Amino acid sequence: MSRVWNFSAGPAAIPSVVLERAQRELLDWNGSGASVMELSHRGKLFIGLAQQAEADLRELLGVPDDYAVLFLQGGATQHFAQIPMNLAGDGDSADYIVNGHWGEKAASEAAPYVRVNIAASSKSDQYLRLPPRESWQLDPRAAYVHYTPNETIHGVEYHEIPDVGDVPLVADFSSNILSEPLNVSRFGLIYAGAQKNIGPSGLVVMIVRRDLLQRVSRPMAKIFRYAEQAANDSMLNTPNTWGWYLAGLTFQWLKDQGGLAAMAERNRAKAELLYQAIDGSGGYYRNPVQVSARSRMNVPFTLHDSALDAAFLKESEAAGLLALKGHKALGGMRASLYNAVPLEAVQALVSFMKDFAVRHG
Ligand SMILES: *Cc1c(COP(=O)(O)O)cnc(C)c1O
Repeated sequence: MSRVWNFSAGPAAIPSVVLERAQRELLDWNGSGASVMELSHRGKLFIGLAQQAEADLRELLGVPDDYAVLFLQGGATQHFAQIPMNLAGDGDSADYIVNGHWGEKAASEAAPYVRVNIAASSKSDQYLRLPPRESWQLDPRAAYVHYTPNETIHGVEYHEIPDVGDVPLVADFSSNILSEPLNVSRFGLIYAGAQKNIGPSGLVVMIVRRDLLQRVSRPMAKIFRYAEQAANDSMLNTPNTWGWYLAGLTFQWLKDQGGLAAMAERNRAKAELLYQAIDGSGGYYRNPVQVSARSRMNVPFTLHDSALDAAFLKESEAAGLLALKGHKALGGMRASLYNAVPLEAVQALVSFMKDFAVRHG
């Protein structure tokens, strides 16, 4: 069996030990004689799994008791719409910080449900810089402020949590959740599609301050209402049991790795190694992002001559380095360095890049 180093932006790498355990347990999970996918979500065994996963996530992130943890479906994109449905009432406005592709999407999907105020945007900088907090035109009466701490496509990341006063801060953490310790109490709502840093697609993890759940009462089907999901332990209908199971295994793996402080240390070392290789290549490789805004998770880079792109992709794949093709918005390459990507993978990439530059001159 040969497993490659996987730099995919999402769905992305899952830790081998998690996959191996899932494989071992596939036919007979927890002595049930059946796979976890074949059991009722209402049964004692699955409820135990769900509770353990939530407890482990709460421990990892230090989630305070006045926050609910939800395991939902629909992808981050569905929640671009569902968040304003739940947090904004008739006539309310919400502030959106647009610092990349996903923030732009979040604002446009919210527009049918709330008056969207673009309080800051770095579109005119091609999203390669971040709008500094001082430039945000916030409305103190806004229902909430939404931003994207890490923009997966453009490779920009806010390294500090912005202060927005008493207005609830809502953050799409899809591509950097669990990559470092986080002060959850600074947020009103955190959400993340699972397929980058948690597990398989089809699951969204949400952490929301409980008082916000009671905020608005616009007519809405129960299935869309976060308060109903919280009251029913995210089991208003059949949840993504397989995704929930793999997320739980990943949380246990993170605890075994030493928790989020240890992950932060590793993620810093991985990103540093790659950025140093790019910056030290004498212009052979280039990362276009403002240095202070560089993402630790997603590293886009170009070759000095785009005519070499095809050779770079072909040879890197042959060398066991998967999914380095950049997003079409930026072209070139992108390496995603999520939690499940070990330092050895980045070492292999950097050594391939040096070798490629020598061979292709
Ligand atoms: C991938 C991604 C999304 C989209 O997630 P879906 O689950 O496909 O809807 C949204 N936001 C960010 C930051 C992402 O990285």
